[in-house]
Amino acid sequence: MSDRIYEYKDDKDWFIGRWTGSFSFGGFIPLSEEILRIQYNLSGFLPVRGNKASAADNIQLLRFSSPFRLLAFIAEMINQELDRHLEVKQHQGAVLLIEEGQLLMVHLPQSGLAVSAFFTADSFGDTVLIATHNEGKTKEFSDMFAKMGLKVENLNNYPDLPEVAETGTTFEENARLKAETISELTGKTVLADDSGLKVDVLGGLPGVWSARFSGSDADDESNNRKLLHELAMVFEEKDRSAQFHTTLAVAAPGKDSLIVEADWPGYIALQPKGKNGFGYDPLFLVGETGRTAAELSSAEKNQVSHRALAVKKLMEVFPEWQAKHSL
Ligand code: IMP
Repeated sequence: MSDRIYEYKDDKDWFIGRWTGSFSFGGFIPLSEEILRIQYNLSGFLPVRGNKASAADNIQLLRFSSPFRLLAFIAEMINQELDRHLEVKQHQGAVLLIEEGQLLMVHLPQSGLAVSAFFTADSFGDTVLIATHNEGKTKEFSDMFAKMGLKVENLNNYPDLPEVAETGTTFEENARLKAETISELTGKTVLADDSGLKVDVLGGLPGVWSARFSGSDADDESNNRKLLHELAMVFEEKDRSAQFHTTLAVAAPGKDSLIVEADWPGYIALQPKGKNGFGYDPLFLVGETGRTAAELSSAEKNQVSHRALAVKKLMEVFPEWQAKHSL
């Protein structure tokens, strides 16, 4: 037994652990039915003390959202302390504990999952195809899906796929079009996003036309110039309200697509400020802060942006969607 303290922390999950030879959960959050189910399932092959929180609890839960994260944390602790080789994988919404090819434990979502979905021909360790060629975007999504035990890949692995034209008139239509077309062509689970800026006094423009607002050969600078021109007669900040918007669509063969969306509210500045980011960032005043999105570091922006908010929402609903019956 070591005195080592283990910790895992992100904005949704925070665990602190110490190995004492057996284990039980405690902490400052109520021990939900799901947490107790994990504890119970683990007891199949590990000694566990009772359900009551006490000072002797050796795994403190300060925040909890992801069964995958908690089991990965516990597996890592056991591997270090007992020289074991536990791996935690996600399969169709279930979390699996595996050691050297042996399945030791299956944690199911509360509502169970379709038998047909669980026993697909796919090997364990599902992959989500992100409908983008952009490695930066792929990295953002890969960090998020890694928390659920899923791998990601992008369109650079599929050079022969045709480009999907964004012909929709809403963000949802465009995101669906990309995700559903590529899912049909590849048979994979595909995530696509569509984003843009909506300015209230312009009736939501540039909206889905954000990338091409100033014409077919538009770039960020000409788009920003056009936006300032359109708002030239709107002098009061309160009348220049706007939102960055993201819609995410996830499509898989035989399933209704999953759609989530998020807005990041702000105002359009009178002149550009800041050097970071891209697109309309130099003109987008973040809420009431007086700073533009281009004055935020990328780490700051990635905590609060429309994409970050949409991704957080997706994390909450994705496991349940993944576990749902095929149509
Ligand atoms: P996409 O759908 O993510 O490719 O975004 C379409 C267009 O919306 C971009 O070309 C930008 O003009 C604008 N846009 C989307 N997200 C942002 C952002 O975070 N900052 C600035 N502009 C953005």
